Amino acid sequence: MKLLYKNIYEKLKKFYHLKILKRHYYRLGKCNKCGACCENIYVRHNGSVIKTKEEFEKIKKEDDYSFYQHIKIINQDDFGLIFECSKFDKEKRLCKDHKNRPSICRNYPSEEIFSFGAQLQDKCGYNFTPIQSFEEIFSKISKKPIKNFEQIN
Ligand code: SF4
Ligand code: SF4
Repeated sequence: MKLLYKNIYEKLKKFYHLKILKRHYYRLGKCNKCGACCENIYVRHNGSVIKTKEEFEKIKKEDDYSFYQHIKIINQDDFGLIFECSKFDKEKRLCKDHKNRPSICRNYPSEEIFSFGAQLQDKCGYNFTPIQSFEEIFSKISKKPIKNFEQIN
């Protein structure tokens, strides 16, 4: 009986993550408070990573989201600008305003980081695991009808 409940629970969990939340990965693990995500930050605005200083200045003027007012450009690489946050206490490695941290920080890490080629910080206590196995995805794809020549043209 226990096994039956476990299977039902797993199926519901999978459905919820795949169909409702539209996720591809389960986020596992927990925050070990290393502080690494408060340093060397990429910031996505309207779906893409902020890439230039000019773009960032424009966003800051147009958007009063307070997070933009307390981050500073420290570097740049192929993905985009790299920021640090003035609310990060480098000695204690803690957020000085943890209670009021913005949603970008509350939701970190989310699987969206993969969409622009970024990865989790090495020290991060979280990890991601695919919701569907390779076999499940492959079996779904192979069941789809193959379009014939007339349909393609
Ligand atoms: S607001 Fe706090 S949690 Fe967010 S990046 Fe800054 S220091 Fe980190
Ligand atoms: S990098 Fe990961 S473990 Fe470290 S503070 Fe950020 S969320 Fe927590």
